[in-house]
Amino acid sequence: MKITKVKVGFVEAPLITPFKTALRTVHTIKNVAVNIYTDDGQVGVGEAAPTAVITGETIASITHAIEHVIAPVIIGMDIKEISLILDRMEQSLYKNTSAKAAVDMALYDLWAKKQRAPLYQLLGGYRHQLTTDITISVNDSEEMVRDSLHAVQRGFSILKVKVGKDARTDVDRVVAIRNAVGPNVVLRVDANQGWTPKEAVRIIGQLEDKGVNIELVEQPVHYSDLSGMHYVTNHTQTSILADESVFSPKEALTLIHMGAADLINIKLMKTGGIFQAQKLCNIAEASGIECMIGCMLETKISVSAAAHFAAANKNITMVDLDGPSLCVEDPIDGGPIFEGEKIQMTDEPGLGFLIENS
Ligand code: MG
Repeated sequence: MKITKVKVGFVEAPLITPFKTALRTVHTIKNVAVNIYTDDGQVGVGEAAPTAVITGETIASITHAIEHVIAPVIIGMDIKEISLILDRMEQSLYKNTSAKAAVDMALYDLWAKKQRAPLYQLLGGYRHQLTTDITISVNDSEEMVRDSLHAVQRGFSILKVKVGKDARTDVDRVVAIRNAVGPNVVLRVDANQGWTPKEAVRIIGQLEDKGVNIELVEQPVHYSDLSGMHYVTNHTQTSILADESVFSPKEALTLIHMGAADLINIKLMKTGGIFQAQKLCNIAEASGIECMIGCMLETKISVSAAAHFAAANKNITMVDLDGPSLCVEDPIDGGPIFEGEKIQMTDEPGLGFLIENS
């Protein structure tokens, strides 16, 4: 099962409502799609999200990295040596993690298809269903309350509330949402680096004093400010989740050694795919740090790969795979079934997609 061709294309999916965080506003997902072909007629699929403000990657950089750097290294290699292929890819190029992620998941798709089993089972098969949260974009309080109530009506019991655009009013936004949805909905708060360490401690302290009951606060301060993260983690009761601060297994080690966060958000677009995500997850588990599986603005293609990885790992205790729920429709058939907050794994081989070889 040798790799014969790596084809790069595009995938587009309009969003139901614009996605707004402290870092950006997006109306339509425009990502890179990858097909990897083998000499026995199989095709593996992957996707990369160009999230310039987080990974530094664009459609052009991802396309170039895959076509001109990664593809020449892996063409001719045999899928049965997937670790060797992935190591060669890692060595071929510094960073460019989303480009690597797209190739990584397409290779895992092929690897599992070769064994005629669903990927999540080959990775360990810890569970077959996941419960995801859904993102509430940062807007004025009224709109966020409306979006939150709509999400609860759609059956979501966990909301990821985006804040961090205006520290003066962030407490009011979260309190308004809690009052509207009642005590039984789980609230996660994501500041996307929008606060200073002192603002973060003040805001989280106020939420604690008001009894708002927040499950966790994600990336309160700038990604590079690990001492700021440490300050916030050690001056609040609420669990602090590192997102943009941790891409690689090595960065996870540094953060864990510093005691700079309580939890880590793993995203395939940050790790460079499943191969590195597994290492990060193991390091965290050995350190007593639970992980979230997250996604960028991704369609069902790459979110499904993340779902397979999450389903296989006990230490993934929080799921933020709402990409497909935010899209008007999916660009691909088959794969895990996304229905409201539930993601149901299926018995189809590989990532589970129904695709015609071409
Ligand atoms: Mg985040």
